[in-house]
Formats: sequence, structure tokens, C-alpha cells
Amino acid sequence: MNQVLNYIGGRFQAAASGRVVDNRSSITGEVLCTIPRSDGSDVDAAAEAARAARQGAWSTWTIEQRATLLESVANALEARMHELAHTESQDTGKPLRVASTVDIPRAVANFRFFASAVRQHHDGAHEMASAINYTLRRPVGTVGLITPWNLPLYLLSWKTAPALAMGNAIVAKPSEMTPMTATLLARILDEVGLPPGVFNLVHGLGPEAGQAVVEHPDISAISFTGGTSTGAMVGRTASAQFKKVSLELGGKNATVVFDDCDLDKTVAGAVRAGFTNQGQVCLCGSRVLVQDSVYDAFVPRFVDAVSNMTVGDPEDPAIGMGAVISKEHREKVESYIALAQQEGGHVATGGVRPDLGEPFDSGAFLRPTVITGLSIDSRTACEEIFGPVVTVHRFQSESDAIEQANGVEYGLAASVWTSDLGRAHRVAAALDVGMVWVNTWLMRDLRVPFGGVKASGVGREGGQHSLEFFSEAKNVCIAF
Ligand code: NAD
Repeated sequence: MNQVLNYIGGRFQAAASGRVVDNRSSITGEVLCTIPRSDGSDVDAAAEAARAARQGAWSTWTIEQRATLLESVANALEARMHELAHTESQDTGKPLRVASTVDIPRAVANFRFFASAVRQHHDGAHEMASAINYTLRRPVGTVGLITPWNLPLYLLSWKTAPALAMGNAIVAKPSEMTPMTATLLARILDEVGLPPGVFNLVHGLGPEAGQAVVEHPDISAISFTGGTSTGAMVGRTASAQFKKVSLELGGKNATVVFDDCDLDKTVAGAVRAGFTNQGQVCLCGSRVLVQDSVYDAFVPRFVDAVSNMTVGDPEDPAIGMGAVISKEHREKVESYIALAQQEGGHVATGGVRPDLGEPFDSGAFLRPTVITGLSIDSRTACEEIFGPVVTVHRFQSESDAIEQANGVEYGLAASVWTSDLGRAHRVAAALDVGMVWVNTWLMRDLRVPFGGVKASGVGREGGQHSLEFFSEAKNVCIAF
């Protein structure tokens, strides 16, 4: 895949301007492919193709036809699992093992799940003395899907499947840093017989192609996953045009360790929560809060487990961590490690680039890093780093733990580690977040609400929440 193309109106094509941007490997630093540097004119073409598709045969497709199509997409993704996983790993720097066991299977599951969910979705009827109300669900129209680089196909499919299930047309803008599996998805949608113009893919830079999607008057809803500052801009622009908006944004999630936890499971869980996908999951537990009475037992074991993690060639099945998304991102992460030291923190492990030899020394690898001794309100402990860096803090009581966990601008997720059932319920209820895991992390049921509070976003995805976001409810009241 030397040149990735846009997919507009059922045709693969370059940007109208002919301009391209390089997409570099974070594993070796080499150029993997070029992508179209699309602008407003490409988004116009995509929105026009989407409008034509909505007015054509697509509007007559039944729920059953759409669900069957989603199943065909799932089957086609599954048949190309190896190619997709390899492409995702090369494009992101994540271990091939992670792409093969998490990212691509989840993309398959997203299409299968929403095929089933849309068949079962129903709205209630409300009887009155002399009338009955019922609700019709209609597509929103053309929807804009804007996605980040950390889980490229996983998140694009999480939006595409419910949007198609509800009969919308799509203009998708994936991250310019990870364009490749989105392009393979477009090929698959083309092959399984989605009518031209129903799914349009526009590659390019956020402030150009992404902004044009958000601003386009014929795009009626924006589902955005990305950083909080970008989300604020997207929200402002879209709300001013009264578009529906879903914002899934950043996080600074706490892993809360009580002294009555199962220590073995908690150490393993905190490592997984901290460093999965090189710490580049919005849900990663990047602040570990440890009860004082178990701090001395937990921290050395946690640091030891992190020190033993392997970093290197993403194709090596035994590797724990691959590369972060880019050298520029590694520099940002490293600047936080330097800041932590200025703020009085102690680097207990990591903080350095591994010595891997070429070609990997030209990539963006970084050892997983644990920092202790920081104040809970230091910048390092409060700002989203989105890399393999975890800070560790002490707390005394349940109420301290809750106060520390809630003391950030974000409110996406938390995990709580305890064997006291009552405490688990109390703490889960008191945390200002959208999702709490108890004695686990990132265990997902696709039916449950997904999303955050405060600076972590607006709205929920998942199950009926996604189906409702991608549709408009229309009440019909019939008098007897
Ligand atoms: P980002 O905000 O830089 O980019 C996300 C997407 O928005 C990209 O496609 C980008 O091109 C586009 N974009 C950038 N500027 C834009 C603009 N002005 N208008 C429209 N689109 C624009 O985020 P990123 O660096 O790609 O991803 C990392 C961030 O995503 C982290 O903050 C992470 O926490 C967050 N994230 C959140 C979730 C969640 O579900 N809450 C999931 C994954 C990632």
C-alpha cells in the first residue's frame, strides 16, 4: 500500500488538489505510504455522494438487509484478519499480537454486534385514554466520523457499524497517522455491495479535512473520538450548527488499590491497565493510587513487573510493548518524564529509550516508565500523557482515594481493586467517571454505555446508545 486513496461515491481517488502527506512508520521511521491531503473540496464531493446515496436505493434498504450487510462485513474482515492485523501493527507500532487478538477481532465483533443489536432494537409505545404514541427511528442523514490513531479500525468500526445499521450515509476522516486499515475497510464495504456513496472516506489533516467535515452544512451529526482540546473545537463548531455531537475524549484514569486487594491480580491488572498499547488507550490507568498500608508491598512488585516488560519489534510474538505512535509523540512523553523530575518525582523504572539496534533505533520506542514521589496535584499526575508513563501515589482512607481519583479535569474511567464488596459499591458510586471496573480493567460488553464525564466527553456510545445517536426519534400520536 504505497499510496492510500480517498473513497468517494464508490471510487478510489486522490485528493482533488493532488496533494499528499507522508505516513511514516513509528517502527523504523520509513515512509509507509502517502495519503491524500484532502481539503474542503474533497469533503464537498464526499458529502454530495452521501446525499445522492441517501436519496437513492439506500433509503429503501430494510433493517434486515442492513443487518445482513453488516454480517458480510464482519465475515470479510475475519477472512482478512492476518492482513488487517499486520497492516494495523505496521501503521501504529503496536505489537502484532495485540492487533491480532484485540484490534481486528474487535472490529469484527463491532459489525456482528450491531447487526444483532439493530434487529432487536425497539422503542416503546405509550397509551393514553384516547390515543396511542409510538416512536419511529429515522437515520440522522449524513454523519461525520472522526477517529484517532490509537485504535484505528477498532474505533472506526465502532462508529461505522451503528451508523450503517440505522441507515445513515457516512463521511469518515481517520487519523492521518493511521490511514491504512480504514482504506482496507472501504475496499471491503465496496466488495460486499454497499451502494456507492453510503460510506465515503476522506483522508487528510485534522485542521483541513477534519475541520471541513465538522463544518459541512450537509453533515448532520459528528461522532468524534480524540483529544480533549480538539474535541472542544469540534463541539463548538458543530453545536453552532445544531448538529448532533458525540465526543469521546481524553482521560487520566485512576487505578485505586486498597489494602484488602488480591495483590497478585492487582499488580498484573495495574500493569495491564498502565501499559496496554504502549499506554495509548484513553482508558489506561495512568495514576495508580495505593493505600498507605499496602504501598510498601505493592510498589516494589509493580515496579519489578514493569521493569521486566519487553519492548521491541512488534512482529515478535513475545514482545510486551511496541513503538509509540511517532517520534514527535515520544518527545512529548519524554518531556513529561523530565517535568516529573523537575516536580520532585523519582523515576522508579524506565524513562529511557531501549537499545534495539537498527532499524528499530530509528523508530519511536520507549521503556515503560513508573514515577513515584510526585504530589497528586502535580502537572505530571493531572495532565494526559497518553504514553507508557504511570505515576504512583499514596492515600490513607476510602475518602482520600475518592478525592484523589476525582481531582482531575477528566472523568473517563477508573479501576478499583478490593475484596470488600461494600467498599467496591461505595467507591464505584462516588467516582466522577463514566466507567468503573472492579478487580479488572477494560472488560467490555458492547451493550453497556461507553463514555466519560467532565473533560472526557459528552454522550455515550455502545449498544442502544449508539443506535439512538445515529438516528432521530419521531413520535407519532394517533387519536382514537
Ligand atoms: P486528535 O484530537 O489529535 O485527533 C483525533 C482526530 O481528529 C484525527 O482524525 C485528527 O485528524 C482529527 N482532527 C484534528 N484536528 C481537527 C479539527 N480541527 N477538526 C476536526 N478534526 C480534527 O487525537 P489523537 O492524538 O489522534 O488521539 C489521541 C487522543 O484521543 C487522546 O486524548 C485519547 O485519550 C483520545 N481517545 C479517546 C477515546 C475515548 O473513547 N474517549 C478513545 C481513544 C482515544
